[in-house]
Amino acid sequence: GTPKYSGIVEDCCCDYETVDHLNKEVLYPSLQELVKTPFFRYFKAKLWCDCPFWPDDGMCRLRDCTVCECADNEFPESFKKPNRLPLNDLVCQEGKPEAAVDRTLDSKAFKGWTEIDNPWTNDDETDNDEMTYVNLLLNPERYTGFTGPSARRIWDAVYSENCPKYLSQESCKEEKILYKLISGLHSSISVHIASGYLLDEATNLWGHNLTLMYDRVIQYPDRVRNLYFTFLFVLRAVTKAADYLEQAEYNTGNTNEDLKTESLVKQLLYNPKLQSACPVPFDEAKLWKGQSGPELKQKIQHQFRNISALMDCVGCEKCRLWGKLQVLGLGTALKILFSDDGQENMVQTLQLQRNEVIALMNLLNRLSESVKFVHEMGPTAERLTEGH
Ligand code: FAD
Repeated sequence: GTPKYSGIVEDCCCDYETVDHLNKEVLYPSLQELVKTPFFRYFKAKLWCDCPFWPDDGMCRLRDCTVCECADNEFPESFKKPNRLPLNDLVCQEGKPEAAVDRTLDSKAFKGWTEIDNPWTNDDETDNDEMTYVNLLLNPERYTGFTGPSARRIWDAVYSENCPKYLSQESCKEEKILYKLISGLHSSISVHIASGYLLDEATNLWGHNLTLMYDRVIQYPDRVRNLYFTFLFVLRAVTKAADYLEQAEYNTGNTNEDLKTESLVKQLLYNPKLQSACPVPFDEAKLWKGQSGPELKQKIQHQFRNISALMDCVGCEKCRLWGKLQVLGLGTALKILFSDDGQENMVQTLQLQRNEVIALMNLLNRLSESVKFVHEMGPTAERLTEGH
């Protein structure tokens, strides 16, 4: 890497070069495959929600903001409930036949997966009535045209109301971590906007916008550092839950695909290169150890839940989808890393919902894509803007 990003990722355990190398060789390729499998590509989300903070202002410029939900024929049988909705309800707003809405819901579709509340998030997965399934592959996270005061308002609220700038010297490590996680996620969203940008509306030409990436991320070294930090944090959560994730049910009714999912999960969790190069991507054991540990954890949990609630206020459906998914993924990582009883009996005590696992892995994949893009295109972005 460039001199700015050398040495050990702050508060972490591995250096930038190792992270870039591992990501390119091991993590990125497996994750790209994993998120395409039937188990991981359908996300259950409540997309029509009332924002508890402001009236909806639906500030979305492009038609592309709209989420296309699941194609009916593609939907795994085991997710379905027998009573179906009328067919005319299954037409996507974007009009693509493969992107029709499937509002079928699973009550007991996945044996082995519990429905329990995640104390780190505001979404309650048991709210089945308003949930729909979204095929994530049909709805890539990219530029949507969602900008201006309504986008700004959300980020401002996320930062100032919920994780004030814990950046002063005396601020404690645990609170800084929440700030860094959010900032890292924000960097990743910006990187995805830059890597999937609508360059020409008239011809519908999509491509990279490296100037945007420079302006929003690369020129601020701390935003790049926070991206790497968040990536390692989520990676650590995944490796910590490895035994649990290995034993989980990935059944969607398609035997061949499901076997592939299982083997990809194992390949990711127990990769020898990962274990030798970066065995502990983040050391959570150092946290919550102070005297005020339990109260602090509760406080941060409360703040994180507010951030999760703010996602209902994102006035662009596709941004809301990815916002919700990634915040749930972060909440799941926090839940894994800070689950009360430590080490050995993790497999017995940890309980994850199917949707949490889907969010966790998709978040890790998004972060992996961002780290790769920043590593590969960051220097070019820097050179391009030097002359300006
Ligand atoms: P913003 O990205 O809105 O940033 C606002 C302010 O936050 C900046 O001025 C800066 O002070 C601070 N800031 C910026 N980055 C960081 C960082 N990494 N760490 C710390 N502080 C930072 N738009 C899309 O086109 N596609 C999407 O999928 C999409 N998803 C979104 C999801 C969510 C949850 C939200 C809230 C917004 C989403 N947006 C999306 C909008 C997008 O994030 C920007 O808000 C928008 O493009 C306007 O960008 P901006 O340049 O005004 O700065």
